[in-house]
Amino acid sequence: MPASASAEPVIWDQAETLPREQLAQIQLERLRSTIDLILRRRSFGVAQLAAAGITGPEDIGSVDDISLLPFTTKADLLAHYPFGLLAVPREQLLRVHASSGTHGRPMVVGYTAGDLETWTELMARCMTMAGVRPGMLVHNANGYGLFTGGLGFHQGAERIGATVVPVAGGFTTRQAMLLRDLGAQVLVSTPSYALAVAQAIREAGYELTDLRLELGLFGGEPWGQAMRAAVEQELGLTAVNFYGLSEMCGPGVAAECQFRSGLHVQEDHFLVEVIDPSDGRRVPARTEGELVFTTLTKEAMPLLRYRTGDLGALISHPCSCGRSFARVAGLRGRRDDMLIIRGVNLHPSQIEQVLLRAGGVAPHYRIVVSRPGPLDEVTVQCEPAEVRTDTQQLRIRLEQLLREHTGLRIGIEFVQPGSVPRSEGKAVRVIDNRPSGL
Ligand SMILES: [Zn+2]
Repeated sequence: MPASASAEPVIWDQAETLPREQLAQIQLERLRSTIDLILRRRSFGVAQLAAAGITGPEDIGSVDDISLLPFTTKADLLAHYPFGLLAVPREQLLRVHASSGTHGRPMVVGYTAGDLETWTELMARCMTMAGVRPGMLVHNANGYGLFTGGLGFHQGAERIGATVVPVAGGFTTRQAMLLRDLGAQVLVSTPSYALAVAQAIREAGYELTDLRLELGLFGGEPWGQAMRAAVEQELGLTAVNFYGLSEMCGPGVAAECQFRSGLHVQEDHFLVEVIDPSDGRRVPARTEGELVFTTLTKEAMPLLRYRTGDLGALISHPCSCGRSFARVAGLRGRRDDMLIIRGVNLHPSQIEQVLLRAGGVAPHYRIVVSRPGPLDEVTVQCEPAEVRTDTQQLRIRLEQLLREHTGLRIGIEFVQPGSVPRSEGKAVRVIDNRPSGL
């Protein structure tokens, strides 16, 4: 059975329920060890720490001293591509992963044996928290390879004692057949790919009752409540949000428990802060800002105050599941994904919410930005949910709703059902055709 809100919580590791004072003590010890590791084993960061008055681990008096430390950015990773931020010899890595960076250069991260063990345990924790139990069949449609989503969930499922089907992405018709024939209870993918799988299931003529799906573990791209409702309805499962980034380890940094009110951050391994992206200062609890993480146990590539570019707010009051870890709520699109249209900030997630809540539209869309004249133009390409839909009426209503919710004039263009490209991983939602450099 899926872990419904009424089921007794199952906790993988008692560390998840540590009293906050005890957790702070562990965080302090681990932060000091991380600083010590950087000072002894790496050149990058030493000068910045010295400038902040930190020349040894004893200079950190409490976890709040984290605010004295310098930030690390994506640009730092790219500048030291590929192995410049390692605190161990390259030969001690058991594996590397990478995520897309900019200008075609990926961000490479390395893992020691200890890092892989920690990551596996974190995934077992998070997947247990989401409702995965020994013996469940886990259909993993995340890409295997440099992307951390495939192997991350794979390791966690095996550690729990679940049965993994390492399907990876693509061959969507075959995914539908395997889901039915093998009777998977858990689907792991990006939320957008889950919708593509749902479509393949329909096209194959299967009913939801032919499947045994109970639980969907989704991450790898920003998604909101409207998308959650769409995926749950189309696949008849409980959708759980997973958050992570390869710079930390991959998925396993934070995930929802059965109560699904924010994602518990694995705080004994990652110190989380929420800052105002404009001045770097910490914002009060429950206030939206940029998520910043410090690794507390990473051996190969420790990172201090890594600016993720992701937005969210921190909730620290106790959760009904009994875990003491703080939660990230309102997680939404990376700051980098934000579009500036005629001077107005526009998150693709705002458009998604309007489309999916309005009804009548299939949950596949693309936002096309262009600049035919002096002004930016935005057109949303989408498909009617049903062939019979009066698209003229629907178009007028959607354009009106978009204008109310975003303050921008955004055009709707209906395209043939099936013609918006389906993603096999992270969905490409925005096509920006504006001339670059302007
Ligand atoms: Zn909880």
